[in-house]
Amino acid sequence: MIDLRSDTVTLPTPAMRAAMARADVGDDVYGDDPSVNRLQALAADMCGFENALFVASGTQANLIALMTHCGRGDEYICGQQAHNYMFEGGGAAVLGSIQPQPLTNQSDGSILLADIQSAIKPKDIHFAQTKLLSLENTIGGKVLSTSYLASAQKLAFKHRLRTHLDGARVANAAVAQNVSLADICQYFDSVSICLSKGLCAPVGSILLGDEQFIEKAKRWRKMLGGGMRQAGVIAAAGELALTQQVDRLADDHYHAQLLATELSQVAGLSVELSRVQTNMVFVRLDDQHEPQTMADALLAQGIKIYPGRDIRLVLHKDIHRRDIRTIVDGFKSCLATS
Ligand SMILES: *Cc1c(COP(=O)(O)O)cnc(C)c1O
Repeated sequence: MIDLRSDTVTLPTPAMRAAMARADVGDDVYGDDPSVNRLQALAADMCGFENALFVASGTQANLIALMTHCGRGDEYICGQQAHNYMFEGGGAAVLGSIQPQPLTNQSDGSILLADIQSAIKPKDIHFAQTKLLSLENTIGGKVLSTSYLASAQKLAFKHRLRTHLDGARVANAAVAQNVSLADICQYFDSVSICLSKGLCAPVGSILLGDEQFIEKAKRWRKMLGGGMRQAGVIAAAGELALTQQVDRLADDHYHAQLLATELSQVAGLSVELSRVQTNMVFVRLDDQHEPQTMADALLAQGIKIYPGRDIRLVLHKDIHRRDIRTIVDGFKSCLATS
């Protein structure tokens, strides 16, 4: 099966399985798990932060970050398309009593600085207190430039806002720009990173910040049910995600380019090539074809997609160079018959 729905479907590598089997473990709620401690130290070092916290998921990492930066009645600014606004069940509002202030994402994924500036609330008892600017990189497969990040940080400083990066796929952004993780992370007070997407770990995310932030974050993680015991079994895979899988993302990006170029020449599909910056390809199906019929026909050929008029195809470790031809041929034959 060629599964293009997401890079979350990646399976752990044999090296990860072996590392998991032999991992040294302890009770991480007591801080006693050597594998978790090693992963946290490694992540903090790679990203240029004082400390890091291993958490269950990207959603949990973002929620903990929001609850650590903001209190009840505070507000965070984010994109209208931000994962931590759109796709996390409203957790910040439900569990954190934190109000989101979503703003339009431009076609490059950024939020206009002027929009941010005018959404920051004055000190007045009518308003929630704006505490945090939360950005996402990559966003919809697109990379935010480091110059944009620098100016967003400057604006945040000026207004005494803290900054958070939902960096679920920040490793893709770093590889695409040929910069280090720390080069991107330097603009933020906290960053969350998914180990279980393109980096192929089975479970887990990393939350990064300074000592004080991580101390507070640890308390929220426990309260949210994220205090895990012998978590070194999964942290061992997370360590290999950071040491062995980051550079490999370049293959996924290359495959995305190949696939986008090929599919852009197929009648019945349109592809915006400028949107292909990392491991995602967005394909629009023309009105002659029914999305569900298309998805069913592809599935019959061993190709899995989410049905839709706008189809997101995600490249990852378990899709190989030879699969690109199979995917393109699959689309061609399904378009001819459906
Ligand atoms: C996947 C994702 C998350 C959430 O990660 P989960 O581990 O699925 O909870 C958060 N932000 C972004 C941008 C993501 O792509």
